[in-house]
Amino acid sequence: MQPAKKSGISRRNPDIKTISQIVDALLDWFSTNARDLPWRRTRDPYAIWVSEIMLQQTQVKTVIPYWQRWMRALPDIVSLGNASSEIIHKLWEGLGYYTRVRNMQKAAQMILQTHTGKFPEKFDEVLALSGIGPYTAGAICSIAFNHPTAILDGNVIRVLCRLFCISENPRDKEANARLWALALMFVESAADEARHIANRCSHLNQSLMELGALVCTPRQPQCTICPVKKHCLAFRFNQVDCLPNLGKRTIATERRFLAFVVQDKNKFLIRQRPEGIVNGKLWEFPNHEIAVKEKNISKAAEPFEINVRSTPFCQIKHSITRYRITLEVFHAQIAPKVAFQFGQWRTVDEVKSLAFTSAHRKVLNALLGKAK
Ligand code: SF4
Repeated sequence: MQPAKKSGISRRNPDIKTISQIVDALLDWFSTNARDLPWRRTRDPYAIWVSEIMLQQTQVKTVIPYWQRWMRALPDIVSLGNASSEIIHKLWEGLGYYTRVRNMQKAAQMILQTHTGKFPEKFDEVLALSGIGPYTAGAICSIAFNHPTAILDGNVIRVLCRLFCISENPRDKEANARLWALALMFVESAADEARHIANRCSHLNQSLMELGALVCTPRQPQCTICPVKKHCLAFRFNQVDCLPNLGKRTIATERRFLAFVVQDKNKFLIRQRPEGIVNGKLWEFPNHEIAVKEKNISKAAEPFEINVRSTPFCQIKHSITRYRITLEVFHAQIAPKVAFQFGQWRTVDEVKSLAFTSAHRKVLNALLGKAK
């Protein structure tokens, strides 16, 4: 397969006519192939904002029940701005990257203070809100208000890199700027069209994301049914499998933790993670990191009284960013006079109502006999 750089493929941006033809093909395709997602039944910028933040790093099918639960509990900016920290963390429990939910609440409070509770419509005002970057601001302004603002997420990057055979790493500054410029050309072309079809900017941006999610997928894209294949340079020059060029993958690092389930009648010893660290403010069982190959776990287990020769009660494997984490969980006992150093005693009902990290929620579910 010939590398794109040496294949004579033009690095110039496409002409307006080509862009317009691709836009029309995408809009036609989207009108009959768009998934019926709950946040697509509304133009409420708050509801669309919630969906966009949840969809960062998370698949659509996972987000749907979270979004529905959130919208029932906190249906508007006022309810989010005034909600307790416990409630927002509990509603977000399992989605990870909890800074997102804290930023959402800060943004809601900014809207209440500086925009009299009305979601701002101007791109710069949306971008100024806590936790909102150029992609999310562009998505909200185009989807909710039909403004010609560009979007560039992983799906759109993949589609554009393949459509125009962009072989540079999209994270490189120059390539990234080019991708933003292309995304803007698309949405401005949709806005300029003389045909008066409602929500063209909104639908165009969503069609790019939808094509990336359903057809132009990372592996085994369905080029034969793609609505824009006749314009696609990667398809024409047999470069689809090489693009986008995301560079070398970061090597995963193994980490190992011991966790201790200490129970006193109907109470568990648990602790809240401090603010400002990964999973800050979420709850967990007392735990301790040890060397991956450590054989003598009794030192790490001090002062928890465990039978170190027994196998763990359960073992949870999970990933956070580049870390592959193994959590070995032991039933343990602890002297009452030192328990307070390691956490707080909470009843089963209290524990159920608190927001736990995903791994420790699995431990809890295993303890309470709930599969998840
Ligand atoms: Fe993606 Fe294939 Fe369509 Fe090109 S033809 S945009 S590679 S699905």
